Amino acid sequence: MGATRDKQPWSLVVWIGLCCLGFAVAPAPPAAPPMTTEEIAAIQRGIDRIVESTRAWQRERGDLGLPWDQATGHLAIVIDDVGRELHLFEQLVDLRFPLTFSVLPGSVYAAGVQLRLRADRRRPREILLHLPMEPTDAAQMQAGAEAQESFLRQGDPPELLRAKLEAALDRVPTAIGTNNHMGSRLTPDCDAMAALMPVLRERGLFFLDSRTIATTCALQAAQAAGVPVLARQVFLDDDPTPAAIAAQLDRAAALARQGPVVAIGHPSPAMVEILRRRLPELLAEGVAVVPVTALLRHRAVAPMAGTPAAVAPPAVAPPVAADDPSRQGSGEHRR
Ligand SMILES: [Zn+2]
Repeated sequence: MGATRDKQPWSLVVWIGLCCLGFAVAPAPPAAPPMTTEEIAAIQRGIDRIVESTRAWQRERGDLGLPWDQATGHLAIVIDDVGRELHLFEQLVDLRFPLTFSVLPGSVYAAGVQLRLRADRRRPREILLHLPMEPTDAAQMQAGAEAQESFLRQGDPPELLRAKLEAALDRVPTAIGTNNHMGSRLTPDCDAMAALMPVLRERGLFFLDSRTIATTCALQAAQAAGVPVLARQVFLDDDPTPAAIAAQLDRAAALARQGPVVAIGHPSPAMVEILRRRLPELLAEGVAVVPVTALLRHRAVAPMAGTPAAVAPPAVAPPVAADDPSRQGSGEHRR
């Protein structure tokens, strides 16, 4: 056995040598025959068909919009409470406008909707984490699907608040920012808001204050921590009737002509129908729907005077008095 083992390295060298010799003396493979004119034309026709079908899709189903400088109004529309159903979600994704989708981390389809949005290269859509925060009426946290969510609560120590936020981000890893679901009790707690902001800053995320209550502290906390921040100006569907949603959308469009606006709505048949009907009309009037980060991006180009560059000023935070007081408790009553 010892002698056989000693011979093995030599036999290996011999085999490698023979292989090299084989490669050296083997004749070169024959050159590929040149393509005929007909073959080249056939390939070109295939490419032309692909290009034309892509252009046709863009014409008939692709996103509609305007370059930033040509639009007379800029409106970001965030759809909250995403992940609890798929039917309306699909219809909202199908709209030819770049809506932003805010996903509830504990929702049954949280992973599915993120995969769906990420897989659709032709309709790029921004995703937010819709972070559940304690409302004034604690019973709402147990109502229906809310019981599946892990709410950040007033009285939670800072480490627990951060851990809950990180757990939620683990469930919505595609999020580029976060906004609050409910939160009329937690967002006025400045210490709680200050505890959360470092997590967002470390991950490069921005915060959109849903403003479910006028006394929210989120904006100041984000600014103090150097986290880019926006604030919701209009709730589209506090009153879920079609006429009320249409009126709120018109109000958002009117505000958008004065400066960029963030409006928040929820999936409903009426919401789908009104957005489908009205957004093309608003675009024809010059009001474009833009992804929510477009507001941050264009503000970064022209920061407000006197504001440190690292701290993004609130582009769309209205004075509380200017906001419709009847809207302040929104987002908590129906869902
Ligand atoms: Zn919500």
